[in-house]
Amino acid sequence: MAAERFDGHLWDVVVVGAGPAGTTAARVAAASGCDVLLVERAAVPRYKTCGGGLIGCAQASLPPGLGVTVHDEIDAVTFTLRGRRARTLDSTAGVRLKMVFRDDLDAALTKVAADAGVVVRDRTTVAALEDAAGEVVVRVGGGGRIRARAVVGADGSASRVGRHVGVRCEQVDLALEVEVVVEPRDAGKWRGRMLMEWGPLPGSFGWVFPKGDICTAGVVAARGQGEATKAYLRDFLRRHGLADRTPLHDTGHLTRCRRPDSPLTRGRTLVAGDAAGLCDPWSREGISFALRSGALAGEAAVGIARAQHPEDLERSRLGYTGAVRSVLEAEMLASRQVMNLFTRRPGVLHTALTAVPPVWRRVDSYLGGDTTIPALLDTRAARAAIKLFS
Ligand SMILES: Cc1cc2nc3c(=O)[nH]c(=O)nc-3n(C[C@H](O)[C@H](O)[C@H](O)COP(=O)(O)OP(=O)(O)OC[C@H]3O[C@@H](n4cnc5c(N)ncnc54)[C@H](O)[C@@H]3O)c2cc1C
Repeated sequence: MAAERFDGHLWDVVVVGAGPAGTTAARVAAASGCDVLLVERAAVPRYKTCGGGLIGCAQASLPPGLGVTVHDEIDAVTFTLRGRRARTLDSTAGVRLKMVFRDDLDAALTKVAADAGVVVRDRTTVAALEDAAGEVVVRVGGGGRIRARAVVGADGSASRVGRHVGVRCEQVDLALEVEVVVEPRDAGKWRGRMLMEWGPLPGSFGWVFPKGDICTAGVVAARGQGEATKAYLRDFLRRHGLADRTPLHDTGHLTRCRRPDSPLTRGRTLVAGDAAGLCDPWSREGISFALRSGALAGEAAVGIARAQHPEDLERSRLGYTGAVRSVLEAEMLASRQVMNLFTRRPGVLHTALTAVPPVWRRVDSYLGGDTTIPALLDTRAARAAIKLFS
């Protein structure tokens, strides 16, 4: 691609970040006939610290025909409370989560976007955005500048675009994760089953997500207690027989949940996925939020790119904000209620899940994508429990 295409060309839509949010936004905008550039800092495929667990809602939000390898299909969950009171529950409806590696998933999503006409420019870091008349100037590392009628910031949880837009977060957590090769005997033990352990720090938990001969295992806790979180990870890995091997990856990453009143747009720029702080406050599930907000942002970016009048621009911005608030932020709000209960009373939540069959059936149907967290809490018993124990 000639350099002048980037320096002089006015793109309809420039998307920053080739994760699930950015690749989806770019594909959706290109499918509407827009001229789209997807800019990614890393070389694609790139490693991403993530469990790679796709809940039903995320699976349903993937484009059809996506060629991504599923390494395990989960139909049972073992829950423990700080390593005790373990109980394995089978799904009532078969496979719930699908396990993938994020480099595979995101590379496949990038390919589908490129097949839809998106121009992909990896190894390019966005350094700053400048609002100009009728366009946004995207400054990239090395001094280049890219012009766009609309920008979608999907550059993850440490987003530069999010800072430009003014996204603020009310919950920031530190997640530590390893990927380890397991013996064939242990791989058999984990196959089809994931583990969720409610941890010793308030609001913390640990997980083991199996992927054939590799397990992804990690812990998450509120930021600001790094040493205690590391100690929890060491203990967690030791107890689950995952500590005696050199990990293929041993990484940490912050997860951020947005403040509901903070902006999602600024001028001709929108934010989606982790860049917008869209993430489930309890489970820290973020792939479904990234895919869904990416699709909404892609549609809104088309409206912004084609806006003839300031009112058209405003309509697209408000449409995006309204859609995110009514669906995704509503889910986050409901999940925050569960998180509040879980932080104060993890034992109550563990007992409800493992000893009250209707509770597990409802959570199971959420994992499978058949219901949402707001719907799950919309019973008299759930409302009473939240009120009593939070
Ligand atoms: C340890 C851990 C485990 C998790 N496990 C799960 C799970 O099992 N299931 C689940 O649903 N969610 C999980 N999540 C959350 C999930 O990983 C995120 O919510 C999801 O990746 C968000 O996607 P995204 O597209 O918004 O951002 P990302 O996937 O982070 O993609 C952002 C992209 O932007 C690029 N970028 C960043 N800065 C720039 C820049 N300045 N210029 C250009 N490009 C840039 C990055 O290289 C990256 O490719 C987990 C998170 C963590 C930390």
